[in-house]
Amino acid sequence: MNANNNRTALVTGSTSGIGMACAKVLMQHGYSVALHGLVDETDGWQLAREAEQRYGVTCCFVPGNLAVPEQVAQMVASAQSQLGSLAVLVNNGGIQYTAPVDSFPVERWQSILSINLTAAFIATQAALPAMRAAGFGRVINIASVHGLVASVNKSAYVAAKHGLIGFTKATALETANAGITCNAICPGWVDTAIVQSQVADLARQEGLELAQASQQLVANKQPMHAMTAPESIGAMVQFLCSDQAATLTGASIPIDGGWTAQ
Ligand code: NAD
Repeated sequence: MNANNNRTALVTGSTSGIGMACAKVLMQHGYSVALHGLVDETDGWQLAREAEQRYGVTCCFVPGNLAVPEQVAQMVASAQSQLGSLAVLVNNGGIQYTAPVDSFPVERWQSILSINLTAAFIATQAALPAMRAAGFGRVINIASVHGLVASVNKSAYVAAKHGLIGFTKATALETANAGITCNAICPGWVDTAIVQSQVADLARQEGLELAQASQQLVANKQPMHAMTAPESIGAMVQFLCSDQAATLTGASIPIDGGWTAQ
């Protein structure tokens, strides 16, 4: 089987931001998609219905708190049963919290590890048997530059994203001859809700306008002074799903305006 005859995908955390952009790009390429996110089910289904009308493909909503392993497995099972199969799993849902190691609350550490790392393991474990049976699968983990390098005050996030890159490599090795690939995408700054709260924090601390704070946040880390569009992450996901990417596995691909080139 190749990518062209089974276009079904679950994108976790796809009710906003990067996940939503990934889901939209996949639907534009004819994929039936299960949307997922921490929203009210009515709102999730509303998004799915709107997407079906707009892109002319099947789109459903699957609930599930990524912090709860049983709900993650149930999320995958529900996507498989509603779409009839699952060729693509995009582990994208994630959260951020910033504080120095000395005062980082242990509950925050645990929830970041659960949502940003353990959920990807549980979802992948739930999706792999059907991918192996089909002889085709694509597992794509949305990691971060923080899976490759660190920043201050982000210890849990950095640990989880480094872990996610390790998990990506291990999964790639275990699935290497099963028609399945597993890769990580490592974005730098992307303009979404997770970043807007950091822009607001910087604006407050430094007494800046939001636009100035946004520019400063980007320039502090990226040689290229521009945030990446969420759709650019979606385009990379789509490429990784294609037959042309059949031997691209175990990779961590930065899309980061040169952040990790330094
Ligand atoms: P976002 O806040 O817009 O999206 C996060 C998504 O995760 C939302 O759909 C939310 O509902 C879902 N989610 C969060 N906690 C959940 C939970 N407990 N259960 C179920 N769903 C949950 O932010 P985003 O920027 O689109 O982030 C998406 C991914 O991209 C994250 O993994 C993030 O770490 C990663 N990332 C973002 C950036 C960036 O600059 N925006 C950079 C690198 C990596």
